[in-house]
Amino acid sequence: MEAEKVIQISPLIRRITAGNGSVFTGPGTNTYLVGNEDVTVIDPGPAMQDHIDAILAASKNIKQILVTHTHPDHSPGVRLLKNKLDIPAYGMLTNSTKNQDTTFSPERILEDGELLEENEFSLEVVHTPGHASNHLCFILKEEKFIFTGDHIMSGSTVVIGPPDGNMNQYIKSLEKLKNYDLKKIAPGHGDILENPHEVADWIISHRLEREKKVFSALKEASRGTPESLVERVYDDVDSSLFPIAKASLLAHLIKLEEDKVIAKEGEEYIWQELN
Ligand SMILES: [Zn+2]
Repeated sequence: MEAEKVIQISPLIRRITAGNGSVFTGPGTNTYLVGNEDVTVIDPGPAMQDHIDAILAASKNIKQILVTHTHPDHSPGVRLLKNKLDIPAYGMLTNSTKNQDTTFSPERILEDGELLEENEFSLEVVHTPGHASNHLCFILKEEKFIFTGDHIMSGSTVVIGPPDGNMNQYIKSLEKLKNYDLKKIAPGHGDILENPHEVADWIISHRLEREKKVFSALKEASRGTPESLVERVYDDVDSSLFPIAKASLLAHLIKLEEDKVIAKEGEEYIWQELN
């Protein structure tokens, strides 16, 4: 098997992409190596030994591991890396067990706003629930890069799967990024993105457009479930993607219910005349 490539992204950042490409992961999960002296690894990815070997070959002096969230394509590599090195891992936990890497046990739980100061650089922790309740982004202050994990991906739409995923929180967490001075986005999947604030705005408006479609589909049907509404709301999407679309559709319905714009009876969501 061909060794995975190490791409120099900036003076302080290198990227290695795991060989787990799929419809969910695009070209594969990006692992970032931050620093040249002491290296911080962000998201060691899935438990793939060749990927871990590539990370180890690229950096002789790994000091710590940071995890954006604990989905199976981001954090199981922590365990393999720790088999080789006596280093700590940091991140956040979730109560959810569905589609989660339950092997992740961080040495310490990170907090929103915390600054991890190294000799060469500092990383600021930003809690960004939405894709997952325990999702974190990290800002490399010196280069104004933000590592967004699955909060923002390049080339595909982030899946918001309730109950651990939450659309209201997702949109708030996108708004939150606009409080920071940022130059570039280093996503968990896909290539570097420019103009972080514009990207965040675009995603918010795209999500709110979809929300309008959910609202009008429910108005037309007067009541419904993700199952009954998916064809109407995602008429621009290939039906093979409906299983994923239904998760996001449920997330939109929950948001509209949280916003008290629609109601819920049993499993059904109900359109209601306002005023
Ligand atoms: Zn991912």
